[in-house]
Amino acid sequence: MTIQRAYKYRFYPNNEQARLLAHTFGCVRFAFNNALAFSKEQYEQGNKTYLADWSKQLTALKKQSEFSWLKSVSSVALQQSLSHLDKAFKSFFESGFGYPRFKSKRNKQSACFMANAFKWDADKQALTLAKMKSPLNIKWSRPFHGTPSSCYVSKTPTGKYFISILVEEEVAALPNLNKSVGVDVGIKSLAVCSDGLVFKNPKSTKKYERKLAKAQRKLSKKTKGSNNFNKQRIIVAKIHEKIANCRVDFTHKMTTKLINENQVICTESLRVKNMVKNKKLAKAISDANFGEIVRQLEYKAAWYGRTVSKIDQWFPSSKLCACCGAVYQGKWSLAIREWRCDCGSVNDRDLNAANNIHIEGLRLAA
Ligand SMILES: [Zn+2]
Repeated sequence: MTIQRAYKYRFYPNNEQARLLAHTFGCVRFAFNNALAFSKEQYEQGNKTYLADWSKQLTALKKQSEFSWLKSVSSVALQQSLSHLDKAFKSFFESGFGYPRFKSKRNKQSACFMANAFKWDADKQALTLAKMKSPLNIKWSRPFHGTPSSCYVSKTPTGKYFISILVEEEVAALPNLNKSVGVDVGIKSLAVCSDGLVFKNPKSTKKYERKLAKAQRKLSKKTKGSNNFNKQRIIVAKIHEKIANCRVDFTHKMTTKLINENQVICTESLRVKNMVKNKKLAKAISDANFGEIVRQLEYKAAWYGRTVSKIDQWFPSSKLCACCGAVYQGKWSLAIREWRCDCGSVNDRDLNAANNIHIEGLRLAA
């Protein structure tokens, strides 16, 4: 089947390109924040607004002389930032989690270019963004084949530039397997599987988290805006970057292994709404990156001919005895790591949950 795969590379802009990118990021941020403010303002007056309304409003703004600077960057990139806001709203309404926030200059900067906003010369391996005179100096760390359909350009708070190139590719389904698995995405471990496989949270993350806490304490003692403050801010951002990279790497290894080894992967659809009410858990959730794990499982399953079966979010996977089906009768709490059922089965919280997810997931998939 034909799939879309993203290839990410580091690149090194020249001064002129860096200037244009900074300007583009600024305009993209402005378009996003402006549309978000507009939609909030309209909402307070009782009007719901949508992508088409934001787009019209942006076009009107561009015609005003005081906002004419918006015209000097790729209009496609501006339009894309409105689409991102649209997606952010949709995901908020679906999950009840993560109301869109205003973009800040301090965070990662990005802009998206569709095929009509860049030129790709396959012979010369040269990619030139709209309004730029010369191609980007990209470090081609691995090859890609096919025609790029869009590019996502970003700059990290530590000043590194990356480009993600989305390419259409052919992938073949993997041979069918006779094995299925239930996966309990957890907090103590990243995931526990019904076949006994446990994915521990990567140790490196712990190490960097300690470093991060230390660096953040140091930052809090510096005078805001001073040179030392800014230096320390970059140190903090670099540690954040390390943690994020570790996490992405680890999540990919885990989901690839699960997809390679199982025909059906059963998992929970996540109880995000519930769990975020508990503050302590909120951090653990973002760390464990639940949503990302399910997202990767789903797209990889689609690529390789596997099935992901998601059980209902209210299914009591922890409280059921996977052995006999009885429900735990006492007061339930997160502190319970193990419990004994009347049938005699001693249930490890996570493994029991994975078994229940497996049974229920297979029932739903049948
Ligand atoms: Zn039992």
